Amino acid sequence: MRQLKVCYLSRSLSSVQKAVEEALHFGYQINPDALKLLQKLAERRRAKPGESEPSLDIIVRGVIDKKAKEDLGQAIESNDLKEMYPELFDFVEVGQVRVEVSVVEKANTTNKPDVEIIEDPSFDIQPTGVEGFSQLFKSRYEKIVRILMERPEARQLTKISKVNMEKGNVKIAGLVFSKKPTKTGGLEFTLDDDTGNTSLLALSPEAKKSASDIALDQCVMVDAEAVQGKLIVKNVIQPDIPNKLASTSKKTVYAIFLSDLHIGSNKFMDSAFNRFLEWLGGLGGMLNEEDEEIIRRLKYVIIGGDVVDGVGVFPNQEYELVEQNIYKQYEMVSEKLKLVPKHLQMFVIPGNHDATRQALPQPMIPRKYAESLYSLPNMRMLGDPCLFKLHGVSVLAYHGRSLDDVLATTPGLSYEKPEEAMKVLLRARHLAPIFGLRTPIAPEIQDHLVIDEVPDIFHTGHVHTVGYERYKSTLMINSGTWQAQTGYQANLGISPRPGIVPIVNLATIEITWREFLTSTSVSSKQVV
Ligand code: FE
Ligand code: ZN
Repeated sequence: MRQLKVCYLSRSLSSVQKAVEEALHFGYQINPDALKLLQKLAERRRAKPGESEPSLDIIVRGVIDKKAKEDLGQAIESNDLKEMYPELFDFVEVGQVRVEVSVVEKANTTNKPDVEIIEDPSFDIQPTGVEGFSQLFKSRYEKIVRILMERPEARQLTKISKVNMEKGNVKIAGLVFSKKPTKTGGLEFTLDDDTGNTSLLALSPEAKKSASDIALDQCVMVDAEAVQGKLIVKNVIQPDIPNKLASTSKKTVYAIFLSDLHIGSNKFMDSAFNRFLEWLGGLGGMLNEEDEEIIRRLKYVIIGGDVVDGVGVFPNQEYELVEQNIYKQYEMVSEKLKLVPKHLQMFVIPGNHDATRQALPQPMIPRKYAESLYSLPNMRMLGDPCLFKLHGVSVLAYHGRSLDDVLATTPGLSYEKPEEAMKVLLRARHLAPIFGLRTPIAPEIQDHLVIDEVPDIFHTGHVHTVGYERYKSTLMINSGTWQAQTGYQANLGISPRPGIVPIVNLATIEITWREFLTSTSVSSKQVV
């Protein structure tokens, strides 16, 4: 089988080669996109031999004659081919992406998706109006204190109103209300619980270190000593995630994590995404044995938001869009995603570019905007954030809007390592601890952004860079983007990492990745 493929490939190359030589002979060059079309046509012909159509060199010659007559330059582009021979290249117009049925058919379709949605805010958000913020923070405090109480250090936890300010050890928990440096180089912060508030001083190097990375509005526990009316911090304790064993699937099943497609933007990397879809469809010639094994056992594709670029998301966005109608942008998304093989279960959560409520938690993208996505038989639309289990492995999917705030306010973090910001969220046990910066948060009765359950996989996107790391038992993945650098990102000095696909084996929670940026370099890297 493998040898046959090589044979096919060289046969198709030789007819392409002839076409290239024909062009060169007349002083023309074939641009990469056009070359790819010709290669695809050649491959298609070897799959369906016997069609009496003009050979590739004759096709190229036809284009050259036309361009010479109309003085249209000496580069042959894909559009030249499509315009002159629409019937030959219709497979690219209609299908855009072909699939190699043999590999996909070999996929173990008896191994059915095993999905359990644990928490989806779409159905239980209850916005309350501005006065509801006090309820929201009360819920945040109560939920995180419950998490803190699981730690042995929380045994002597006291309410702030009951603290003896004169002497003795004090353990309190509350939301960080304010934080500022003192004149003597220390750090002063205020903690709020449901009985009152108090100021604390971090003066020793250890205390300052533990207090330095706490975010405003997050809930922490503080170990302090009361000295004549002042509380001197010994240690600030984050709720954090415990060490536990990650759940794994009994069978080898793979899940793919994507985000930030930004379809509708003129920076959407269409060819790279098509290459990925072809790979997903098992296109012959591109796959090695490891890829075939992954594709056979692949079951899930999780898309973490910003599937479209949206409309009116930032000033002058219209100049960066190829499609200004939000409904049509979602249709463009489904044109792509309908090519994902039907035995793969897809999930889409919204991001800040999607057409749903912007404040967190975000309900799923409403059906009225994305009818065509809803009608895909293997699509499941979910809210942001969402917790679900795939073959017993829990996945917390969150678009990641608050990563901007964490990156902006935590010293030493950068966009190149989004996993470090994800770790801050896990340690805070909250997806958006900082209130009032760039992340809009809705006044809900319940704080749905508390990380109640420790996920086996924590998936985010939004910052358009790739990063993954295991923190305790949780695999953190930030899945990059399919959008090239925008002017906005260039101004901020952010270099996106587009076209990279993280793939996780749910039986081992090991991650590997493939890159689709160029036609030649599909590479992978293993990390644990
Ligand atoms: Fe994005
Ligand atoms: Zn985003």
